[in-house]
Parts: sequence; structure tokens; C-alpha cells
Amino acid sequence: MDDIATSLAQVQQAQAQLASAVEALTLRIGHLPSTETPEAVTETTTQENNDAKEAASPPVTGMSTPAPAAGGKSGFTSRIVLTTYPKQIGINPFPMDWGNPDPVKRGPVVVSRYPTTIRRRNAIGAHGGSYSVYYALALASKELTQDHRPDFTNTEPAVNHGPLPQWGDKKKIVSMDPWGHVAAQEFKKVMDAEDVDIRPTIAVTKAHMKLAELEDSVRQGRLVPDGKICVNQLGELAVTKFAVEPVWYLPGVAERFGIDEGLLRRSLFEHTGGSYPELITRGDIKVFLPPIGGLTVYCFGDPAKMPDESVRLSLRVHDECNGSDVFGSDICTCRPYLIFGIEEAVKEAQNGGCGVVIYFRKEGRALGEVTKYLVYNARKRGEDRASDYFKRTENVAGVKDMRFQALMPDILHWLGIKKIDRMLSMSKIPIHERVELPESWIPADSRVEIDAKITAGYFTTGKRMTEEELAAVQGRVWEDIDH
Ligand SMILES: [Zn+2]
Repeated sequence: MDDIATSLAQVQQAQAQLASAVEALTLRIGHLPSTETPEAVTETTTQENNDAKEAASPPVTGMSTPAPAAGGKSGFTSRIVLTTYPKQIGINPFPMDWGNPDPVKRGPVVVSRYPTTIRRRNAIGAHGGSYSVYYALALASKELTQDHRPDFTNTEPAVNHGPLPQWGDKKKIVSMDPWGHVAAQEFKKVMDAEDVDIRPTIAVTKAHMKLAELEDSVRQGRLVPDGKICVNQLGELAVTKFAVEPVWYLPGVAERFGIDEGLLRRSLFEHTGGSYPELITRGDIKVFLPPIGGLTVYCFGDPAKMPDESVRLSLRVHDECNGSDVFGSDICTCRPYLIFGIEEAVKEAQNGGCGVVIYFRKEGRALGEVTKYLVYNARKRGEDRASDYFKRTENVAGVKDMRFQALMPDILHWLGIKKIDRMLSMSKIPIHERVELPESWIPADSRVEIDAKITAGYFTTGKRMTEEELAAVQGRVWEDIDH
């Protein structure tokens, strides 16, 4: 009981702090229509809905404060609703039974703030991952109107995928919506009947892709065009792509990390600058769309083969490294590994199997590029020895890595991948067979990274170095670089 009382007091305190922070901001901006203290008031959003039942339902009541620059043609209401509470009048979230194998019984993920939908939300956060901030900007700058609703004509997946039994396992998939690619179709009935704004969180398309290195692979005879997967002499590839936005089932995410759901909610609330107070006030809502990057699956060959255990599957799980992946920086092995992963995936598909590359938006071990460059500087101003590689990152970030692979298996479950014949990786993911990057693919300045990783226990078929040998592996120092 004491714990509950303490938590409640903390919630109240957080609320009060948030309210005063918004009030302070409002006052500083100086657009204030009045200086009244924030209090529980009735939100005055007008209902455009003609549905008699909806129109008759009482409006949302919430902790709110006078809104600067509201009203007029901005599309913003005259009050800011700081948060909502489960028992508030008008709050009526769509039932959500995470893990139910029937999508209709499971329920749609509803997070939109569209006027007819805001009271029906059963998820915290916003669509689009990190791009939700640009959405807010588009609304504020009136590039976008609040009443825009997407037209989903012809947007359905380019290939059919699933449903698969594991989509109905609430423990196997906790960080994406297994029905996210068919939301517009599966929930069309309810969208039309109740005028709710439901959006897909996964999209599936087909494309051709072209990489300079693969043209070389064809020239050198490593890759042989077949007109289907490797389309031509230029090494052009046919690919099916799945873009996935994060959708977290909070009890499941907490369980993966072995932590309490309340603690997870509190940490997310506090360390996003109090951006999502419903994490604290809406214990009844279990789904959160976090403001982070998602992932993309690149599938070579027939995607229907991914769940088929009778065919071979090659996989590369790759975490974003913009500097190397896109711009060819030679300080690490990321792009060579990515290209190698793609080439091997294509070969597997050409041999009748399936090749998959999963690309996670987790730049610099999810520490971001600023931290990454600070670490580079610390390395280059020091002696940049492989023996100090991880220590440099820890000095700056406090940890070696923030990628939290605990959530990584979800996409494998969703794709239906039950076994991996060739894992093109050195990361510490539990897999049967792994394939290393060939020595000739390793860029000059990246020996420091790769030898440090091998010694730290990353996968290798080669030899692990002693501490002394590791200290002798040194990268290019700045004096060596022409600048
Ligand atoms: Zn890299």
C-alpha cells in the first residue's frame, strides 16, 4: 500500500510539474489569452461527427491549460489537453487483446488524434516513429490540416504474408504490430462504421536495387545474373521490402528486459522530457508507439519461402551506420558487411533458398552519430588501439552498446523464420551457423574495430588475440590523413 501511495504521490507531483512547466512556457511566449492557473476543465473540441451516439457522448475532460496561438484557422483547440485518465467521461478505448490470433478480436492499434478517434485511442504515442515530430511540425506550420485522412486505395502489401501462428503469441511479438501491414484492410469495416482513423504500421513493396559493388561481383563472376533475382549484368537486384514502425506492447517489452512495467513506463515518461504523460496516467492502455526509428526487411527470392523450413535461409541483421553504409567511411566494416550480406542472400535465393537482410535504424549501436563521432575523436587523439576500442565508447556513453537485441527476434517471428542456415554476422545473436566477412572485404582503418569485437567475444572462425597482440593493432591517426 505504501508503494502505491508513493507512486500516486509521484504521479501527482509529475502532473503538477508538467502543468506548471506548460504554464511557464505559455507565459513566456506571451500569446496568453488569460493567466488562469491550469485546472481540470472540459475540453471544447467540436464534434464534426454526425453519428448520433458519438455526438451525444460527453466531451473529454482533462488537465488542461490555456493554449497559446490557438483557435482561428490553426486547427488547434483553445485548450491543451495535458493528459487523459481511464475513468474520464468520454474516454472509450478500443478493446485491445494483444496476442489474440484473430485480428478483429485482437483489435486495431488506435493512436490517432483525429477528432472522432481521440477518445477511442488504445495506444500512447504517435504514428511514424521519430517522424511523428515532423508530423507535429507540419500541423503547426499549416502544411497539413488536422482533418486530413489517408486514402489507402492501392496501398495494400505488394505480396501476401501470413497470417502465421506466432502472430497470436503475445510473448513472441511485443515490439511491432503483427497486423500492421493489413490494418487498412482488416479494420476497414470498423473504420467506416465508426469513422475512426486507423493506420498501417507496416508497408510491403517491391523494387529493383543497384549497388556499385554488385556490378563488380558480376564482373568478377561471383554473382551470376539469372534475369529474376539478379536481373542483369549491372548486378541489379529484384527485392521485396517490408518497412516496420515500432509498436510496443509494454507488459511484453518490460518482461523481455526483466523489469517492472511501471518502471519501464516511468523511465520512458521521464527520459523523453515528459512527452507522454499517458504512460503514467493511462495504466489501462498497454500499447506505446515510441518515437524511434523502425526497421526494413530486404527479401531476395520468394518471400513465401521465409517461413518454409524445408528451404535454406541466409540472414544478415544489420544495424544502421550511415557513415559507412551510405557514405563509405572506412573506419568500420559496416558497408562491406552489408554488401557481403546482400550478395550471399542473393546467392542463397538463386540456389532455391531465401536471402534476407534486416536493417535496423539503430545508428552507432543506438548511441547516435554525435556520440559515435565523439568516440572517434577520443580514439584518434589517443593511440586508437584495438585493446581500448570498447573502453573509448564506455568513457563517453557509459555503455558499450545500447541496441538491446532483446527485441530483435520479434521480426524473425513475424517473418516466420524458425531457423537460419547461414548467419552473415559477428554479432552475439544465438544462431547455428555464422559466416564471417572475408578478410579481403575489411577496409584499412577498420582493423581496430573488428579485432576489438572478436576479442570481446563476437563471432569468429579465426583466432582470438591476446591482450598484447590487441594493443598492437592500431588505426590511422589523424596525422596520417591528408586534411
Ligand atoms: Zn560502421
